[in-house]
Amino acid sequence: MTTHDTETQHRTRRLVVDRSACAGHGLCYSRSPEVVDCDDSGYPVIVEEVLERTEHIAAAEEAAAMCPERALTLESP
Ligand code: SF4
Repeated sequence: MTTHDTETQHRTRRLVVDRSACAGHGLCYSRSPEVVDCDDSGYPVIVEEVLERTEHIAAAEEAAAMCPERALTLESP
């Protein structure tokens, strides 16, 4: 593994939705559509499995922070 790989891995995050906790009211994809889309029923769909870009990670953090159901979490892959 190169230094670059290690740095990228440190920055990489995965946004995960707990469908059983989600209420489907859409705050997350309204706020951060670049990382969360929605399905036909109004439930969130994660746009990218792995987030590497700083602005996408920041958008995912915002989405997770504003979810009143705590249904979104940002994990290290
Ligand atoms: S903000 Fe939370 S509860 Fe609402 S749709 Fe998004 S993940 Fe579901």
